Amino acid sequence: MTEAENINADNISQNITISNYVTYLNFISEKLTKFFSKQKPYIFCQKGCAKCCKNAQFPYTLTEVTYLMSGVIKLDEDSQKRIESNLERIIEDKKNFKGEKFRYDCPFLLDDVCSVYEYRGLVCRGFGLLQNDKDGKVKVPFCCFEGLNYSNVMDDEGKKISPEKFSKLGVKEEPCAFNISYEFLTDPDFERGFNFKFGERKPLIEWFMN
Ligand code: SF4
Ligand code: SF4
Repeated sequence: MTEAENINADNISQNITISNYVTYLNFISEKLTKFFSKQKPYIFCQKGCAKCCKNAQFPYTLTEVTYLMSGVIKLDEDSQKRIESNLERIIEDKKNFKGEKFRYDCPFLLDDVCSVYEYRGLVCRGFGLLQNDKDGKVKVPFCCFEGLNYSNVMDDEGKKISPEKFSKLGVKEEPCAFNISYEFLTDPDFERGFNFKFGERKPLIEWFMN
């Protein structure tokens, strides 16, 4: 094969990966939409609430970040420049960071709104629901303790769902946890089922560092 043919073959293979990943995303998004809809009485997410896009690490695989960037290139020039400047600032902060776990506001968050919502990664999509972690323990979204998701059914000690509060709400759907951990959503079974590879995984900002 000539070099040009090789590059072309690489492009085609990457396009197939992304296209199969998008098929997987549609499958998983449909499920997540149903879960959110079932949990509606406990969900307080709204446009402009961006607490979960701040002060975190955001794991991303190669395929997710490639898809995310395919959304960035569709943005207007001003938004792209703002994202670039966010990235530069966060990278600089990371270089100067001396602690153990570097946390940052997502560089794609502009005026408290996700600029790449349709292209966001898996970690962003399921956040806000009660989750079963890999050991089967229920993980409560942190915003519950800030008066948001599930705060209307959390017991006063902030440890578990209160059956008393649930019954007082008088709603039919019970609060329940879903198997939507990042580990589950990126399980190799999905790669096999939908014929794509997630590729390497690292915190979002590290994809933009040399
Ligand atoms: S998950 Fe919580 S922090 Fe994130 S948008 Fe919903 S209510 Fe806000
Ligand atoms: S990609 Fe969008 S939804 Fe995900 S953390 Fe960044 S701003 Fe929030």
